[in-house]
Order: sequence, then C-alpha cells, then structure tokens
Amino acid sequence: MRIAETVTFGGAGAQAGLDGDWDRAAHRRGDADDLARQPDARVLPMWRGKPLIAQDCAVLLEFGHPALEQAGEPHIFLGLADGRPLFAADISAWQPEDLDPEAMAEFLDPSAQHHPALAEDRMFVELRAVMAALPPRDAALAATARAMFEWHRSHGFCSMCGVRTEPEDAGWQRRCPECGRRHFPRTDPVVIMLITDANRVLLGRSPGWPEGMYSLLAGFVEPGETLEAAVRREVAEEANVQVGDVTYLASQPWPFPASLMIGCHGLALSREITVDPVEIEQAQWVTREELMQIFAGEVAGMHPARPGSIAHFILSNWLADRLD
Ligand SMILES: [Zn+2]
Repeated sequence: MRIAETVTFGGAGAQAGLDGDWDRAAHRRGDADDLARQPDARVLPMWRGKPLIAQDCAVLLEFGHPALEQAGEPHIFLGLADGRPLFAADISAWQPEDLDPEAMAEFLDPSAQHHPALAEDRMFVELRAVMAALPPRDAALAATARAMFEWHRSHGFCSMCGVRTEPEDAGWQRRCPECGRRHFPRTDPVVIMLITDANRVLLGRSPGWPEGMYSLLAGFVEPGETLEAAVRREVAEEANVQVGDVTYLASQPWPFPASLMIGCHGLALSREITVDPVEIEQAQWVTREELMQIFAGEVAGMHPARPGSIAHFILSNWLADRLD
C-alpha cells in the first residue's frame, strides 16, 4: 500500500520532511547525559500515558522546568528532532488535586489534567482522543514515549531471576544486576484484517467496545505463526469464515499498551458466519454502499472505529479504492 505510512503514528510527515525531521539517533544513546545538558535539549512530559498537549500539538519543555520535578527514571532519549536532542519524561508521580477516577476508567478517558506549573492551555490528554488531530511527528513521538514508559512500568523485574532491573542505554534497555541479562522493549504483533468477499467486507464487534462500534477483526499473532496463518486462524476462530490469499497492507504502532497492528487483506473462501461468542459479540458482511452510509453516520446503531485507528484507515481507503 503506497500510502501505508500516512497512518496515524506512522510518522509519514517526519519521513517525508513535511512535518520536521525526527531521527531516533540510536547511536547517540550512549551520550544521552551530554545531550541532555545541551541548551537546546527538550523534554516531552508524559503523565500516566497521556502526552502534554496545547492546541493540538505536543508541548516540549526545557530541562529543569518545575513541571518536571516529579519525573521518574529514566528520561528516555527519543532522538534528534530538527537536530535538537529530544527526551521524554514520566511525571506520573504527580497527583492532581481534582482527579476523576471514574472518567479515567472509561474506554476513552475524557478528562484532562492541568499541572499548576504550566500555562492554562496545556493539558495532559488521552492520546487516543487527540491522535488524529496531532501533527504526524508529534503523534509518533507521543506513541513512542507512551509505549516505552508502559514497558518500564510493567517490566521492572528480571524475567530470568526476578531481581529488580535497572534502565540503561537512555531508557532503551533494562539490565539485571544479578544475572546480567539484558531486556529490551516489547512490541506485540497483532494482525487486523480486511476480509472481503467481492463487494462486501467482514465487520465485527467485541464486547466492551463503545456501543454501536463495528470494526475489522483482529488478534494476536502466536509463536510459530506467519502473519498469513494468524489472519486465517483468527477469522476462522471468531467468525468461522475461511480465508484464502492474504496480503500485507500497512502497519501501525499502537501503544495501548504495546502492540504493532499489522493490517492485512484476506480474500474470503466461505460466506456463512458463525460467531464465537467468547471472542466477539457479532460479525456481519457489509457492502461497500452500506459501509459508506455507516461512515456518513446514516445507519442507526452502527459507527466505524474512530479516525486515527488503522481499522478506520484501511476501511476508508478500501472505500476510496486506495489499497494499491
Ligand atoms: Zn536476572
């Protein structure tokens, strides 16, 4: 798919130079301490997975800013942005006074948090709520920072011997002081598939999704599986539809918490659907014309996955005949 990297979190703008340059500069991670002392170094603050946003852009702070006082270890060196060293800092230890635990537990947390050391218009916002509005590079930076901090939060102990590990390499590794094992950030591959039968596409919905939301079927790739086999197995398990040819379309880093969504196109060999209620709530064939109506909000009780998700990206490009 030629426009694959224009997906949200794909950083296409950065790659094409449209949205400023971002180089992960992995070879500079060993010099991160020196880079952090450069006067032009900047920090992207994250709070419990939320980036700091103002006017639909990520906000970068200088080192030493009072809002970073409660930053935990490590600062992650994200690379060079427009040639300037860029880090991410996790200030999750900060406890806002007006926290709304109910809102934060929602599927899409609508609450925003304001740190007293920052200007009024700067808020920590749920990434999924702003992902489609952010400039591509900001979205990719925030997704990377979110995935990295979640990995540090959930992988603090050595999986070999159970001892607490230490961050290294500007946050890109953890090392066990007991057995010496190095641990690297995880990315879990998930296949998400456009299954078509001529003019129709297979849509489904999972329990727990927002009411009326329909999307593409998806599932984790298992050890020992090719992407093609994972697509065929998941569709057979969830809807009992048999799939033949499978081709790759596009991928999307999806830091909720640590997935790489791998979009594929599969051609259906069978039509009858039998839903496995343990896996999904419903599945059905939808024609191109019906899908256009769903996207236009003209079908009561049905709406597609939100803009910014790879499902929305693939479905809208299938409608526009842009999968080549
Ligand atoms: Zn160990």
